[in-house]
Amino acid sequence: VPVPPAAGPGGDVALGPAVVRGGAIDLSGYRPGGPAEEQRRSDAAVARALAELAALRRSATGGPGPVGAVLEAHEALLVDPGLIEAVSAGIAAGAPAPTAWEDRLSALGGELEAMDDPYLRARAEDVRSVRQRVLAALAGAGAPEDAVPAEGPPAVLVVRELDAATAATLDPHRVAGVVTLAGGDTGHGVLVARSRGIPVYHDAGPAAAAVAPGTVVGFDARARRFVVDPDESTRRSLRELSAARAVEAERVLATAREPGATADGHPVPVLANVTTPADAGRAVAFGAQGCGLLRTEVLFGHLDDAPSVEAQAAAFAGIAEAFAGRPVTVRTWDVGGDKPLSFLPAPDEANPFLGERGLRLMRRAPEVLRDQLTAICLVARDHPVHVMFPMVSTAEEVAWALERLDEASSAIGGRPAGMRVGVMIEVPAAALAVRRVAQGLDFVSIGTNDLAQYTMAAERGNTAVSALADARQPAVLDLVSRVCAEVPEGTHVAVCGDLAGDPAAAVVLAGLGVEELSVVPTRVALVKARLRDVTLAGAQDLARRALACGSAAEVRALLAGAAGAIPA
Ligand code: PEP
Ligand code: MG
Repeated sequence: VPVPPAAGPGGDVALGPAVVRGGAIDLSGYRPGGPAEEQRRSDAAVARALAELAALRRSATGGPGPVGAVLEAHEALLVDPGLIEAVSAGIAAGAPAPTAWEDRLSALGGELEAMDDPYLRARAEDVRSVRQRVLAALAGAGAPEDAVPAEGPPAVLVVRELDAATAATLDPHRVAGVVTLAGGDTGHGVLVARSRGIPVYHDAGPAAAAVAPGTVVGFDARARRFVVDPDESTRRSLRELSAARAVEAERVLATAREPGATADGHPVPVLANVTTPADAGRAVAFGAQGCGLLRTEVLFGHLDDAPSVEAQAAAFAGIAEAFAGRPVTVRTWDVGGDKPLSFLPAPDEANPFLGERGLRLMRRAPEVLRDQLTAICLVARDHPVHVMFPMVSTAEEVAWALERLDEASSAIGGRPAGMRVGVMIEVPAAALAVRRVAQGLDFVSIGTNDLAQYTMAAERGNTAVSALADARQPAVLDLVSRVCAEVPEGTHVAVCGDLAGDPAAAVVLAGLGVEELSVVPTRVALVKARLRDVTLAGAQDLARRALACGSAAEVRALLAGAAGAIPA
């Protein structure tokens, strides 16, 4: 897998002329005709938008999978009879086509943004993306993905937020980086861009909103530094930093294939979190020692009907093959909260994150879980595939899940030898009661994203409380430490939450006694390199100091100061 210079494992530096997108489309030159003419233009704009989306879907990253599903959702919106009728009614009543489209899509976007359901709120992003596409077509402007000029120095794209469709179509050779005004760090678009080696500076806010097209902007996302129209010496230092990161990337990649371990040889395998076979290939290229978390609800998130046992087994086998004999942990459906599945509708709840999520929802649909467990067991006969249950709160839930596993495996001749069974620890109750919850299990894997959300009572996707929902909160680290100390003898402790992908935090986790890490593919090599820079005693010392911190900010400062050869 080619790694673009200075990007790949944490390049995170960009400099270039700004291409500003997502602002108002210039319609000042638009001369409306009569209703018949406007209707014709509207139809032509829809046809062009659909053709653009179809072309994107045929592109390398827009095929089956999460990005393809986003593109399909955009297509579905453009052919939605209710929407088309409402736009036509507006045109018939005398509105120019751009006004009719803007009115309808702004109203729809506003309705979605006001929803309680985070999934529906996220759909507002799709509506805004479609709105830009249709208005660009009506204005005779280029398609959104053509905003970056084909010539000249690579540009820095400035967008309100980065949707997956756009992220999937950016050319890493033409786009030096992306700056978003809002939308957080873990949205799909940001993850897609980073996995394609494009540095992203997220939530730049008003400083970026005021940037005029063509102005040179630069950033170092690691240091959270964003500059507009930098002077020559700042430009030089950003270029040098970018070159230094490229050298670092090379050094890091050179040793990426070695097993994860501290300087004194204490093993800490570093695996990858993946959702697609393409991720799996990339993860192996970055040195992943297996897959510590396969998010099946994302892998199959685009389907309207539950995938059959055969379809699931084929997908799991494909990913296991990409990992070529390395272990792959398949997580059973983790539906609900911010992760809907159309074939497994979650109930309408006031607080979906506290409702029937993950394993809880499976108790309503045990046949859907049984099919998945059957597929996992079938693949586990030929590959080192393991199973993990999410969103566990009590030992009773674990017992229920293990009964379902026994049912599924005995129907096909018994549990495959070597298949390991574990649960996620992401609810504080499960962390506190790990002695009971993990009894008899082969492993637990701590989901620091949800553990932070539930420990701090701060929703993980809500930027207003993101400082609270930080896994570096001392209370969250305390729980991780407790899990390591109290887990039953013989049960391994892994971490697959995003905290493990922060190299300095990975050292703390190793020091706390975590035995295995699973991180985003592009972070594997960086995490390994950082672990190799410390001894186990050094990691334990850093962990002790982290536990003694009084706040997440103090922990962050400690980790930043603890930077060894690789700044986090
Ligand atoms: C977590 O909660 O930390 C986790 C790894 O699972 P997800 O992010 O898929 O909820
Ligand atoms: Mg989780």
